[in-house]
Amino acid sequence: MVWDRPDIPSVWPPADEQLRGVFLGLLEDGSWGRYHGPHSDALRLELQSYHGVSQSVLCCSGTAAVELSLRAAGVGPGDEVVMCAYDFKANLMNVRTCGGMPVLVDTEPGRPVPDLELLKAAVTSRTKAILVSHLHGLMVPMRGLREFCDSRALVLIEDACQNPGAMVDGRRAGAWGDLGVLSFGGSKLLTAGRGGAILTSSRVLAQRIALYTQRGNEAYPLSEMQAAVVLPQLRQLDVRNRQRAAGVDILRSQLKEQRVLSLLSMEDVSQAVLEAGAVQGLLSVAAYYKVAFRVTDEFPAELRETIVSACEAAGIPLSPGFAALQTIHARSRYRSAGVLDQSAALGQRLLVLHHPVLLAGVDVVEGMGERLASVLRTITGAAG
Ligand SMILES: *Cc1c(COP(=O)(O)O)cnc(C)c1O
Repeated sequence: MVWDRPDIPSVWPPADEQLRGVFLGLLEDGSWGRYHGPHSDALRLELQSYHGVSQSVLCCSGTAAVELSLRAAGVGPGDEVVMCAYDFKANLMNVRTCGGMPVLVDTEPGRPVPDLELLKAAVTSRTKAILVSHLHGLMVPMRGLREFCDSRALVLIEDACQNPGAMVDGRRAGAWGDLGVLSFGGSKLLTAGRGGAILTSSRVLAQRIALYTQRGNEAYPLSEMQAAVVLPQLRQLDVRNRQRAAGVDILRSQLKEQRVLSLLSMEDVSQAVLEAGAVQGLLSVAAYYKVAFRVTDEFPAELRETIVSACEAAGIPLSPGFAALQTIHARSRYRSAGVLDQSAALGQRLLVLHHPVLLAGVDVVEGMGERLASVLRTITGAAG
């Protein structure tokens, strides 16, 4: 979505000096027109050192990166992949593409985070991998999940497309999984319009991906041009993530008086992360691609539509979150491990705020927070 209020400049993707330099440099050195050049290698090395992993593969999208990860994990016909019922739609389709069976588990109550105990309980002798995504600024309790996967020899795939740069319990998002996935898709926190990457510290897994993608010509490639534009954004990622988190802090304080929406952030997740075996004091830092709000149980889920329309009229980039996977796929495409009520409710109650506005400056964020608070006051007045 484009932040297109005439009074507010578009801030994403950035048109800063670093990127201007990259585009001019590409023009001058001609690397943009070559199959191979220095930028892809440079990006791979920086991604590896930033995340603390030893291997990486660049590819054409986050979706392709998830598919390649599933293939590296050896997922094929008859294999099950345990995942959360509230997740990115293409993740389920990717499991199907590989011939695997997605096994859906419910979220924690009221938060788009897979329930760790349910993930564990859904594992059977047919389970090949567990696939989890950090969504809307929230984080999956990775330490407990990592220990579980180690004890059961399961491949853990960690989708960090929405929160590159986040720290989960002292380690970068994407570095907890046997395979970590990043997206450089349009609008993402690191964007090249299209693109993705897989992070791993396993030579074997990286080698399987390389074999799969080298078929005469390279399949699923990232271009030199795309690699070149991601680099300066990676170098600015921590600073921008801090700015975005500061924006979320402003919104939280501006919205604390109202009862319609609850802002879901790491503030309320950290307790769950600790309970899941995190070591107290290790750093967790959120990265917001979207900020999630839930219509509280005091109000009917249908109020979400009213809020979306009112926000659209007020120029607030708030839209519905994901639909729960079991509500958009035929029963034959997945197996559900237990009831999926929490994810179904989130599918109806979540709203997400798109990130660019968080970088637009304190005044803009405050102005938007005030408008949102006023929209909600009007609606509650009407809902009585
Ligand atoms: C954006 C996204 C992807 C994949 O993105 P592409 O557009 O294919 O690069 C995967 N998972 C999640 C959670 C995402 O948000």
